[in-house]
Amino acid sequence: MKATIPVNSEPVQKQSEMLGLLSSTQSIVKEAVQRLGYKDDMYELLKEPLRIIKVRIPVRMDDGSMKIFTGYRSQHNDAVGPTKGGVRFHPEVDEEEVKALSMWMSLKCGIFDLPYGGGKGGIVCDPRHMSFHELERLSRGYVRAISQIVGPTKDIPAPDVFTNPQIMAWMMDEYSRIQEFDSPGFITGKPLVLGGSQGRETATARGVTICIEEAAKRKGIRLHEARVIIQGFGNAGSYISKFMKDAGAKVVGISDAYGALYEPEGLDIDYLLDRRDSFGTVTNLFTNTITNQELLGKECEILVPAAISNQITRENAEHIQAEIVVEAANGPTTLEATTILAARNVLLVPDVLASSGGVTVSYFEWVQNNQGYYWTEEEVAQKLRSKIVESFDNVFSTAQRHQIDMRLAAYMVGIRRMAEASRFRGWV
Ligand code: GLU
Repeated sequence: MKATIPVNSEPVQKQSEMLGLLSSTQSIVKEAVQRLGYKDDMYELLKEPLRIIKVRIPVRMDDGSMKIFTGYRSQHNDAVGPTKGGVRFHPEVDEEEVKALSMWMSLKCGIFDLPYGGGKGGIVCDPRHMSFHELERLSRGYVRAISQIVGPTKDIPAPDVFTNPQIMAWMMDEYSRIQEFDSPGFITGKPLVLGGSQGRETATARGVTICIEEAAKRKGIRLHEARVIIQGFGNAGSYISKFMKDAGAKVVGISDAYGALYEPEGLDIDYLLDRRDSFGTVTNLFTNTITNQELLGKECEILVPAAISNQITRENAEHIQAEIVVEAANGPTTLEATTILAARNVLLVPDVLASSGGVTVSYFEWVQNNQGYYWTEEEVAQKLRSKIVESFDNVFSTAQRHQIDMRLAAYMVGIRRMAEASRFRGWV
């Protein structure tokens, strides 16, 4: 039987598109470090993770054969506190990607003032072609392989692409067995009955939605008069479309990995949500589809890339009609396109700010696990909102003060505390 559990379904970019991800991240880190007034040694410290482990995980498959999987865990910087970040299960996972993603987690934790550094893990596998029990054995095997370098006060994993609360539950159970005590704080994104937090599933989309509201205010756009295009209909994209509809906006375009739908009068979002499959596919039910690239250039006030990286590039940035771009995906806009959009006065809210709702509620989950006292959905939503509004404001005003784009401003805000903590510890 193949796995039928719902998974985080944002597709991952192909290897060729990932090239340069680490080096482009490093180039912005370098500029941010210089603008903050640090010397080169600070950049030398922050340009790579402090630690990365590569493991080989033997798994007994259902047909009796043995398969060896490769996994990684990268810990970028733990000067502020334990490292934190998801584990992705995907055939395209590699060392370079895991390294860059762990750096982004450091930035997210810095921007949101979470007492963590960044971490990230991944296993090279295709969960779409594995059974429920094979996935369980793989998840447990990964935890056994990395158990010495993770833990509630060392490095706290979470869901990411194609991983979900069930996988977190197996990992938590395996870690608790190894330690011989119950360790809910070892991992976040767990099912509610195992110490998960209210509001974790929708957290990324809620965070993006609050960023859209904040950006719209700055641009003088009223949400109930706005037209919105959302690229990607996975966990983030589908919930964002629902929240935008609830806010009274007109969602005129959506897409999945196979195509896009555009309707100037507004799409029937409830119908689309109802018909999407667990991997976020829905356009296959229609004949009047357009391409993802065509969708990006259509008329709207707000554009939300919530799919894969490198979608807004030097080639199409001039054709974007939106006044606001909010990055729900990791790395959807190239550096060149970021510059073009800024010159055209398009307000771009960068991924490290816009997509941090998930890790923020993960932090709330860990706090609740540590204190053994749990918050209501309203309490979580209210705490998330104040974190996002405060962080947005901080990044926006940094951008204004330095006359720079919001991406560079977000890097400056994200690096500051980690750099200070590293300096106090005597690492530079
Ligand atoms: N994987 C998510 C991210 O990249 C969440 C990480 C977490 O919850 O720790 O932000």
